Amino acid sequence: MFQPTASQVIFHRGADKSVFNSPRGHYRGDFLFYLIGGLTMPIYNFSAGPAVMPKPVIEQIQRDLPNLNGSGMSILEISHRSSLFDTILAEAKQDLRDLMRIPDDYEILFFQGGGTGQFAAAPLNLATLHHAIALLDSGHWANRAGAEAAKLGVAVTTLASTQADHYTRLPHLPTTIPTESYDYLHLTVNNTIEGTTYHTIPQSSDLPLVADMSSNFLAQPYNVTDFDVIFAGAQKNLGPAGVTVVIIKKAIVKPVDHLPSMLDYHLFMTKNSLYNTPPVFAIYAAGLVLKWLKAQGGVAGIYQRNQEEAAKLYDFLDHSKLFYNPVHHADRSLTNIPFMTGDAQLDAEVVETAAQEGLMNLKGHRSVGGLRASFYNAMPMTGVDALVNFLHHFEQQR
Ligand SMILES: *Cc1c(COP(=O)(O)O)cnc(C)c1O
Repeated sequence: MFQPTASQVIFHRGADKSVFNSPRGHYRGDFLFYLIGGLTMPIYNFSAGPAVMPKPVIEQIQRDLPNLNGSGMSILEISHRSSLFDTILAEAKQDLRDLMRIPDDYEILFFQGGGTGQFAAAPLNLATLHHAIALLDSGHWANRAGAEAAKLGVAVTTLASTQADHYTRLPHLPTTIPTESYDYLHLTVNNTIEGTTYHTIPQSSDLPLVADMSSNFLAQPYNVTDFDVIFAGAQKNLGPAGVTVVIIKKAIVKPVDHLPSMLDYHLFMTKNSLYNTPPVFAIYAAGLVLKWLKAQGGVAGIYQRNQEEAAKLYDFLDHSKLFYNPVHHADRSLTNIPFMTGDAQLDAEVVETAAQEGLMNLKGHRSVGGLRASFYNAMPMTGVDALVNFLHHFEQQR
């Protein structure tokens, strides 16, 4: 296979197959920077997270950065107690409320510590009666959540698991659950690594539901009232790393003794997420993404496009003689699509060749192998088309 060097780069344009040479193209870290007389090769970032953000948002950040709203100060410099930030926080909350139709009896909180922080926060705040939670074992992140709760002395019961199927399908609730013995059910709505999604949320009448929506937050419509808690680290589908959104039914939030302040739902609710310095920049950037999303027709609009994008790749994979997606059709994710050839060395060659064409970060998670394409909200259709064209040509040229 041809290896581009600092002085010589060749790449094939997926669709027209014309070949360019340039002494100025060069590798820098993960990225191919490519310039020929003003022609910039488009780069598409299929990373599972931190992940692609909308181009107009990146450009807005660039414009705002030295001087936010004519203040003469950068978002990086302003106080979290300033009126400038008050507006940013209030608008982000309202825009999220509008987009997800979050009713008034739910609060929106902003934490640090990522999805992983919530694996501890949820049991600390909510597993206070039985000190026991239930889990559907749908893969890596469900296991991480269970392990973190167990570390805190909470009993974790796995109600169903699809480990034996390598998580290529989703576990479902058994028909009878002793609901009186658990404080809540933990559910990983979208399994980022395995590429599965609960398109219908499992319902259990009186078991509170805590949902890890980190990787398909705002990717498809859900009824907030089906959940007691929804949490999501921003860096998959909402914005930059650093802020974690928690949407919580106010009625289940109670003061709990001996909690670290940074994980305390009740404290953050009474302080409007401003108990201490919040991740100011990350909240500002996520706020811009929410405004961008509204302009895309909201969750319904983006869901339509997400379905079309995912369908293009699944359709290709299902007809390919080289590549396949191992996931049960009904459980397939719109945001994270693993696929492979069955030959690890060939998979690695595909990843490398794709990167030479500007299709970045397609390497699959080590536990699944192969490749993985993440189509978050900010992935344009042109990126999906470029990927499918590339895979098609790769397959044909063999
Ligand atoms: C990425 C991810 C996490 C972990 O998020 P961090 O913010 O890195 O802690 C948890 N759950 C899911 C479903 C994820 O995709």
